[in-house]
Amino acid sequence: MPSKQGYKLVVLVKQVPDTHNVTSDAMTKDGTMNRAVLPAIFNPEDLNALEMALQFKERYGGEVTVLTMGPPKAAEVLRESLYRGADQVVLITDKKFAGADTLATSYTLKSAVEKLGAFDLIFCGRQAIDGDTAQVGPQTAEKLGIPQITYAESIVELSGNDIVVQRALDRGMEMVKCAMPCLLTVVASANRPRPASARKHIAYKLAATPFEYQDVLQKWPEFESIEALEVHLAERNLQIPVWTAADLDVEEDKLGLEGSPTQVYKINFVVLEAKESKEVSPDHAGVEALVQELIQEYIVG
Ligand SMILES: Cc1cc2nc3c(=O)[nH]c(=O)nc-3n(C[C@H](O)[C@H](O)[C@H](O)COP(=O)(O)OP(=O)(O)OC[C@H]3O[C@@H](n4cnc5c(N)ncnc54)[C@H](O)[C@@H]3O)c2cc1C
Repeated sequence: MPSKQGYKLVVLVKQVPDTHNVTSDAMTKDGTMNRAVLPAIFNPEDLNALEMALQFKERYGGEVTVLTMGPPKAAEVLRESLYRGADQVVLITDKKFAGADTLATSYTLKSAVEKLGAFDLIFCGRQAIDGDTAQVGPQTAEKLGIPQITYAESIVELSGNDIVVQRALDRGMEMVKCAMPCLLTVVASANRPRPASARKHIAYKLAATPFEYQDVLQKWPEFESIEALEVHLAERNLQIPVWTAADLDVEEDKLGLEGSPTQVYKINFVVLEAKESKEVSPDHAGVEALVQELIQEYIVG
């Protein structure tokens, strides 16, 4: 049931490499992604997850806390979340988390959610566009011992401690009733994420983790010192909290590459060449022939 402050809503978001611009140096020798060389973006379906949480808060009241596990640079998606209406954000970062597969990632996220305390709903994106496994949401729910609703498209009803959720399925939709706390994985068709608000952007543009204080000082020299900047940020609740392995109740051998039974051996970039494309005449016969070919090659049907 909601606390006095209303519903406790947690959103798990990931900063991902913009896989539309993958280059040959995108992978390091040990099979992990070289995130420094790729432009980083907010995982698209995590924006839908954040939007669903914000709409829930507007409808039923509550507080939205956004968590991300990633390198210090991932603080950018936390600021983006504040610009859209998140109330609190936390960066979960530590070299010990590097190279984590979904098992290690979900273990770390579960521990961070437990550190947050009681919650009513967790919102995740259905899938991240880099690992593409759609495993972290369900794994995190399993580790927290709570029910999960995947492919959530809308929260239809809230009655007492139960929510009714519409799921998007290949062949239509399904209505699921579930007691809270539970975890939802949200699909892209759920909503149109709101853009960042200019007013919130102005209010939160200085929000920073201690890793970023030096950069902020360079951009805003009027603060004169890190100490003066820290005071300014603290007074305005603009310090982004950072949780490392030491801040979480975790077994270190379950973290990062060490805690990951799955290691990405190699990534091949599929670049389609012109000779592989085929001209289809834009008429019924042309489309009919294409569909037949796709069926024969078991691509559809
Ligand atoms: C090309 C490639 C292939 C990979 N293949 C595998 C594999 O087969 N098996 C495997 O175990 N690992 C694999 N990994 C590693 C995997 O990407 C990482 O474990 C990653 O942190 C989580 O998996 P995902 O990207 O598939 O996320 P998904 O499971 O698709 O993410 C679903 C949702 O979980 C939440 N979430 C995911 N990661 C985070 C995070 N770091 N912080 C906050 N919320 C998060 C978001 O809401 C996200 O939308 C692969 C990585 C790459 C780059």
